[in-house]
Amino acid sequence: MSDPEAPLTISHSGDSGLTDSHCHLSDERVFAEADALIARAMNAGVTRIALAGVEPAEWTRQLELKARYSDLLTLNFGLHPWWVEKYSRAELDSILHELDTRVAHAQGVGETGLDFHSKRNASRFDDQREAFRQQIRIAKKHSKPLVLHVVQAHEECVKILKEECSSAKSMGASDLGIPILVHSYSGNVTQLQEYLRLGAFISYSGTLVRAAQGDGHEKTAKALLNTPIQRLLFETDAPDQGWGDPENSDENEPARVREVYEAALKIMELPLQSGLPALAEVVGKNFRRLFGALGNVPNDHGSAR
Ligand SMILES: [Zn+2]
Repeated sequence: MSDPEAPLTISHSGDSGLTDSHCHLSDERVFAEADALIARAMNAGVTRIALAGVEPAEWTRQLELKARYSDLLTLNFGLHPWWVEKYSRAELDSILHELDTRVAHAQGVGETGLDFHSKRNASRFDDQREAFRQQIRIAKKHSKPLVLHVVQAHEECVKILKEECSSAKSMGASDLGIPILVHSYSGNVTQLQEYLRLGAFISYSGTLVRAAQGDGHEKTAKALLNTPIQRLLFETDAPDQGWGDPENSDENEPARVREVYEAALKIMELPLQSGLPALAEVVGKNFRRLFGALGNVPNDHGSAR
């Protein structure tokens, strides 16, 4: 792992397309306008978009988009912790079985994880835990990267990941054996170090834009500065998590991932003009390591093995 105190030096020498590592173009709210959103993203220089999965009907919509934008899109099939609350236990079993049979058509498993925010239904937290464990096992069985949604549950998430590591007979106790992406990272630096020890990639969302504007979120800015550059990714989480007009929740879209990159450069105190293509190149490489060929699991030095 790189020294978090070391300056974040980057050198530009190749593909500087932008990457939106997590969004929801297959969400019912925006699916009808996905073609226009993708056109705008491509015009803005976005060359890679990962879709996050929430439930089976939405995986099907991902496949429809992939048929049209094969090179641009990376698919993830999963059961989001919020959606766990929508289903009975019998339905959850059936959905996870369906995931096991359909996940071969996706590049990753997720988003899955734990969300213990106070507005969630606490009586279903055990079902969230169980659905999370099952999805870790499906990801390991199919050698797919795992995309995590974790809110107010970082310690427990890391604990479950470690338990699932040690139950893997073919792997070392500290190695899950598959790459992990923590999407829209919201934890502190101590929790970040735990994820980094598990080899995780860390994706930052529009929260960075607010932080760069001096609008709070110092915790996230500090986490960014402690994330080795070879583990960094950026995302919009569109259509959610917009950072502009709070009255207009629809304005977030993949084209705006550029603003997240620019905010990161500002927080890192790197020059915008030369820094953007350089940062884009490193992030593009990170994305390919995460979703690349099977067995490309990052080690603690950030290189693939
Ligand atoms: Zn998401």
